[in-house]
Amino acid sequence: MPSVIYHPAYRNYSFGEHHSFSPKRVEMMLDLLEALGHRVETVEPQPATRNEILGVHEDYYVRRVEALSAGEDVPDCQDYGLGTPDNPVFLGMDEAARWLVGGALHGVRLICEKGEKRVLQLGGGLHHARRNVASGFCIYNDLAIAISALARHGFWVAYLDIDVHHGDGVQQILYDDRRVLTISLHESGRYLFPGTGEIHELGLGAARGLKLNVPLEPFTDGESYLEVLDAVVPPALRQFRPAVLVVQSGADAHFADPLADLMLTTRDYDAIFRRVLGWADEFTSGRVLFTLGGGYSLDAAARVWALLYLLIHGLPVPEELPEAWRNRWSSTFEHGPPMTLHDPNPGQAERPNREEIARRNRQVAQHLLETARHYWF
Ligand SMILES: [Zn+2]
Repeated sequence: MPSVIYHPAYRNYSFGEHHSFSPKRVEMMLDLLEALGHRVETVEPQPATRNEILGVHEDYYVRRVEALSAGEDVPDCQDYGLGTPDNPVFLGMDEAARWLVGGALHGVRLICEKGEKRVLQLGGGLHHARRNVASGFCIYNDLAIAISALARHGFWVAYLDIDVHHGDGVQQILYDDRRVLTISLHESGRYLFPGTGEIHELGLGAARGLKLNVPLEPFTDGESYLEVLDAVVPPALRQFRPAVLVVQSGADAHFADPLADLMLTTRDYDAIFRRVLGWADEFTSGRVLFTLGGGYSLDAAARVWALLYLLIHGLPVPEELPEAWRNRWSSTFEHGPPMTLHDPNPGQAERPNREEIARRNRQVAQHLLETARHYWF
């Protein structure tokens, strides 16, 4: 039975009512699952301790987060990415971020100590946070902290990041760690925040060839996305032979996302999640820890993550969405209430440059593999 990790304190990780990163997404998802007749049983973590945060972050950075969190004035906070439009300061931000890290660490304990296989952490995925800088709505890097903890337990980790933005913080923190393979598929940094994630960013020293980036063209559709995912991930996993998969399941590559330009539908996410679960069975004895991540169309993110929950549990995927749920959240739907869990066919087949985009993505994936393979033997 998969474990789902959640605590109501996760809702406190909020930069304010009008900020894109909204805790409402998880509330909508949980409410949808309940409306579909599923009793969502969750296990509650503890917040991460200060020492656990210091496993990855610099003490001088954590002290600034703590001071701002307590309402103190920190004149140089913007030098550390704090108090910016992306990462506004809020009271209690240190503790709120530590709860999310604690959830990921609880997932690590379930896998390492209890022998659990499928674990879903209903939050986090804060992949942009650096050792000493907050970035892109991310204060503490729950993923890097959890991955480092897995590696200390002797579990080599493959990290897969399907968020539409490059997983730059995770990559940078683990750039020279040969116990960790990172793979990030994202809209190319030429067009999108944070601007990194090129194929030549391959890792350092003994870890060279273990940090893989697939920068995708804007308007990449699901067919092309799945083609490069299939081209890159299985050979890398076969080569690296990880003990566990960690997946950042950002939902912002969805076509409705207001912050990015990829064109995935919920059916594509369905295909991605089924593949990931299959790869976990094939390469890591089923061990996989999913976190959430970006996702700024509330409606799309709630449906994508409800889908993830259903697939992890091997539950059937319904078509119709419950009317009561649609009514309860009617004010949040950007384009009117969705009627079905899966998107109606958006008719992408007619996009004029579809073939050209697929060709460029295919070339990037091939070039990446050719270069990375050089370091694999
Ligand atoms: Zn993102």
